[in-house]
Amino acid sequence: MSGDMLTIGAFAKACRLSPKALRLYDELELLRPARVDPDTGYRYYAVAQLERARLVAWLRRLGMPLAEIRTVCALDPPRAGAAIRAYWARVEAETAVRRDLAAFLVDQLTATPRKDTTMLELRYFAHSDRGRVRPANQDTAYAGARLLAVADGYGPAGGTASSAAVEALKVLDVREVPAGSVLNVLQEAVEGATAAVREVAGGSEEEAGTTLTAMLWTGSQLALVHIGDSRAYLLRDGALFRITHDHTVVQSMIDEGRLTPEEATAHPQAALLLKALTAGPSAAPDLRLHDARPGDRYLLCSDGLSGVVPDDGLRRVLGASPGPDAAVLSLVTAANEAGGPDNVSCVVADVVETGG
Ligand code: MN
Repeated sequence: MSGDMLTIGAFAKACRLSPKALRLYDELELLRPARVDPDTGYRYYAVAQLERARLVAWLRRLGMPLAEIRTVCALDPPRAGAAIRAYWARVEAETAVRRDLAAFLVDQLTATPRKDTTMLELRYFAHSDRGRVRPANQDTAYAGARLLAVADGYGPAGGTASSAAVEALKVLDVREVPAGSVLNVLQEAVEGATAAVREVAGGSEEEAGTTLTAMLWTGSQLALVHIGDSRAYLLRDGALFRITHDHTVVQSMIDEGRLTPEEATAHPQAALLLKALTAGPSAAPDLRLHDARPGDRYLLCSDGLSGVVPDDGLRRVLGASPGPDAAVLSLVTAANEAGGPDNVSCVVADVVETGG
């Protein structure tokens, strides 16, 4: 046998993979031995194959599935690097969703009553505007004592879909939610909204779908449920925080480092959704729980606002408006004056001390 060929045992030792793993990778055509002895069936590997075998071992350590490793190994180094970056961005996005769910559960299970005895409540205002360009308004905005919601419908029956989804959530506005069951109650409400959208769409994903971003007030906390590219923001101590992540193709390209946020604004597919409430297979919404503080101001809006008014503009208007009603009307005006091509919906809610 020539000097640059290694037995499976020697090769395994050199690349830190087990002979068993090497046999599996051979079967999966991920890493074929350079030669298989036709009489004995013994596998022999070339020294030149070590580099690839080590890459496979490192990618396994990252937790990358074998099918994806096979794809990465077939690429030239720069493209393999890009593929690994994209894989890791996906892992982090999935982990972020699980982290939020874990935090939600921890909060729900360990919540203690607020120490001071002041009672909090919401002051709120909602408005949805057709805008100056679209022939119809397919958005729905709603605010009540316990429920805040924005939905942005699309497709021929999009308007009916967004209002049906919000209508289904309104059960949350009329009953007290025990602190320990917020997650279950939200889940149930979203299932109700999904069923309502399915009925409107008549089983067709093209007929209708909608985004849904809603917050449920528990008396001390706001539980957020979010799917699609409508957004929720929190203005606290003069700073604006975006508390939702867009479920769009473009946002996933930003996460993967393939697009800068500046390039994203002008991207032709900026509105293409990764997730929404549709007649198709149901996608899991993001869920989060926020402790309320007196003085907090929340904004829920459709992309008709956030697509044309940058975050800094939102912060200025929210900070300068005396009440939720003034804030909502100023934001809608700002979107229209910026030449907004879409329907515009806003909900603003202030956390205030009762009687304050
Ligand atoms: Mn829209």
